[in-house]
This record gives sequence, C-alpha cells and structure tokens, in this order.
Amino acid sequence: MADPYSKLVTSRYGRQLANRLGLPTPTPLRRYRPGDPLVSGPVLLGETEGGRLGEAVSETLRKANAETHRTRDDDAEYAALVFDATGIAGSTELGELHEFFGATIRRVGKCGRLIVLGTPPEEIDDPAERTAQRALEGFVRTAGKELKRGATAQLVHVSRGGERAIDSTLRFLLSSRSAFVSGQVIRVGAAEAPTVDEARPLRDKVALVTGASRGIGAAIAETLARDGAHVVCLDVPAQGEDLAEVANRIGGSTLQLDITAEDAPRQLIEHVGQRHDGLDIVVHNAGITRDKTIGRMSRDQWEAVLRVNLAAQERINTALLADSSPLRSGGRLVGIASISGIAGNVGQANYATSKAGVIGHVQGLAPRAAERGVTINAVAPGFIETAMTAAVPLFVREAGRRMNSLSQGGLPVDVAETIAYYADPGSAGVNGNVIRVCGQSLLGA
Ligand code: NAD
Repeated sequence: MADPYSKLVTSRYGRQLANRLGLPTPTPLRRYRPGDPLVSGPVLLGETEGGRLGEAVSETLRKANAETHRTRDDDAEYAALVFDATGIAGSTELGELHEFFGATIRRVGKCGRLIVLGTPPEEIDDPAERTAQRALEGFVRTAGKELKRGATAQLVHVSRGGERAIDSTLRFLLSSRSAFVSGQVIRVGAAEAPTVDEARPLRDKVALVTGASRGIGAAIAETLARDGAHVVCLDVPAQGEDLAEVANRIGGSTLQLDITAEDAPRQLIEHVGQRHDGLDIVVHNAGITRDKTIGRMSRDQWEAVLRVNLAAQERINTALLADSSPLRSGGRLVGIASISGIAGNVGQANYATSKAGVIGHVQGLAPRAAERGVTINAVAPGFIETAMTAAVPLFVREAGRRMNSLSQGGLPVDVAETIAYYADPGSAGVNGNVIRVCGQSLLGA
C-alpha cells in the first residue's frame, strides 16, 4: 500500500540517497490485524505524586498481558511510554516531564507510543494548576514532531470521575489502530464504561454508514463489521452495484438513498425500524467537493456541498435524537470533518465551511446527546490515499503526503479505526471530540 516515493526510500539505495539529500524517509506504519497483541514490547509507566490514573492504566496493561516497567531500564526498547501528569499542580512541577521523557524518549521503538495523561484545563478552578495542565499540550505536540520511525504522541485529558472510562482510549492509542493519529488531545469525560468483548466489541450492534460504496466509507463499513456490527451500507442509487458488493462482502445490507432528499431522515428511520430492533451507530461519511475560488464559485456549487456535507447530517441527527427515534441508549453519532475545515484550503470555501460546520455541529449537540446516553464525535482526516487524492496533481499530492510528522499519507482504514474507537461501548466518556487523522499535519496545526 506504500506510495511510490515511500517504496523508493525504503529500498537500501533509495534510503542512502534520501539521507544524503536530506529527504524524508517515512517508516512503513504497523496496522492492526485481528489477534495482534496490544503492544509489541515493554511499556514504561511514570507518574507524578498525586496522580489519579496509575491504577486505571495498570489495569488496561494487565488485561492485555503487557510487560509493564515502573523503573527505567537503560537497555530496553519501549513499545510505549505512558506518563500520568494529573498530579502536576503548578508550572514549577513541569520539569517532571523532562525528568521522565528526557531519559527515555530515544528508547521508544519503531511505531512506538508516547501518551501523557492530564486533567481538562477548563475543568480546573485553580489558575496555577490550570496553567500547568494546559502546558502539557505544547510538550506532547513537540514530542510528536521529534519522535522518529513511525512513533506517535498524544495527550489524554481525563475529567475527574473519568478514571474508570479511559480503557478504550488507552487501548486505541497504544495499539496500531491509531497508526496515523498523532499530536492529538483527546478528552474523556466522567462515565461508567461497560466491559466489552475486545475481539468483537460491536457484537449485536446495528450501524449505518453513509457513502459506503467506496473509499473511506467502504473501509468504515468493513471495520465496523469486523468488530461485530451489522452494517447498513447507504449510498445514492447510482452507486447501487458497488454498494451491494461492499454489503455482500461484509454480511451487511444496503439502503439506496440520497441523504439530501426532503424525506431522507424519515426514510432512513423507517428502513431501520422495519428491519432491526433499533440503531446503535450512525457514521455520516458521505461527502462531495465542488472546488472553485470564492469569486468563481457558483451558488449551486456552494449549496450542493453544504447540503450533502452538513445540512443532511444536521437533519438526520436531529431526527435521531428525537423522542421516537430508533437510536438506542449507548448510541454513537460520528461526523467526518477535514483538516480543510480547520486550516482552510484555496478553492474549497464551500467544503471548508461545511467541514468546520461539522465540528460545530458535533460540539453543539454533544450535551444534548449525553442526556440520551448517546455520544457524538468527529474525525478530521488529513491526506488519505483514496481515488479522490490520487486525482490531485503530482506536486500538490506529494506536498500533501509529506507535510506531516509521519511523512506519508494515511489509509482509509486509519479513519475507520478511529471511528471504531468512538463506536466502542467502552467509549461512553468520549463525547464532543474531534480527532485529526492526519499524521500530525502541519496544516491547521
Ligand atoms: P468518495 O467520493 O470516494 O466517497 C463519498 C461517497 O459519498 C460516494 O460513494 C458518494 O456516492 C457518496 N455520496 C455523495 N453524495 C451523497 C448523497 N447525497 N447521498 C448519499 N451518498 C452520497 O470520498 P472519500 O474520499 O472516501 O471521502 C469520504 C469522506 O471523508 C467525505 O466526507 C470526505 O469529505 C472526507 N474526507 C476525505 C479525505 C481524503 O483525503 N480522501 C480527507 C478529508 C476528509
């Protein structure tokens, strides 16, 4: 799956040439295969005095039979470094980050993981503690840029009361499911998270994925089915053949529907009501582009993109959060934003507006969703290798691929794995988040 440049620089002579010219040499990322262990080597745990998450982290590692070290071994190569920084209550204590990571960051192995755990700054009253907890973000984002060989760094903000809800987040971030996610800040709120069958976490769940006939949508459908869900694959009637092919492959079913149709929310709800007892996961993946600079963009091009990418999911989600909805408690709504919606992009005013709107929609609906025991989150993909990005002119494409900490494009499965993490019943405390699946792209950083 490597792009031609990556293939070249991972060959012996190509690598020597790239090193001599100072060109990036991307490390082929390890991706999850069912049955893989959580981590492929020892994990070093560090904590500050007063930290409140050590026990929860140990429990996740114990369940995974991971070799866990609490003191540094200078000969070890670590699969992950995990540091509980929740005890840091003032800026003078931030040196503990340097103390722990200064001596260990160069011992992180290929495709290794660095995870810092903190408290959401906005939930802290004391200004000194809030300052110090906010400061963690600069450290982690820098570590993501300094790590080599496909390793990633993340900050997890855990609310007080969220201690028992971090297992799914730790499992996602430690594993190779998060291969193309780096430099992110993920928030886990207070919640009771159920214990799940890790091999089939979505067993007995019904999921619906829009735009599922190809590209990222097909990968999402496949990944949710792998995790045990029955997937209703939705796309426009013109994509019927490809849609049936995806649904057959994963043992799912199809719904041919244009999500912008006036009665699309009703049709969708009726379809699910007739065939299933309820609905658990809805992924709003369908999206279109109609690129033109603002002065040259027609009103039709503007409206078409806003209708598919934003208005359709607003209407469907409003219907799904209404009283008579088939969406069950524990339900999961997921939107697809884009780094264009965070950074803006020339020629994409309509697209970037719609995708920034998806972020606003997720954040705006999160409290209301929580009242129904539902979560709503989004992913913001960066450069993902699809038919859409293959059509981008060579130099723009190369720039898009390389301008991130991992020096390569992501795969549709990377977006899908992040969505599967949101969908996990254990992710009950993960609400209102927007995770960028972009290899820590420089755009919008
Ligand atoms: P794609 O064009 O390959 O697939 C989109 C699917 O949506 C198609 O199957 C299409 O038929 C369907 N669709 C479009 N309008 C519809 C409608 N009105 N009703 C129902 N279905 C409809 O795109 P992709 O590259 O797989 O992207 C999937 C999502 O990810 C999109 O939301 C896109 O904006 C987003 N995204 C992609 C990238 C990338 O690098 N490819 C980056 C950021 C965000």
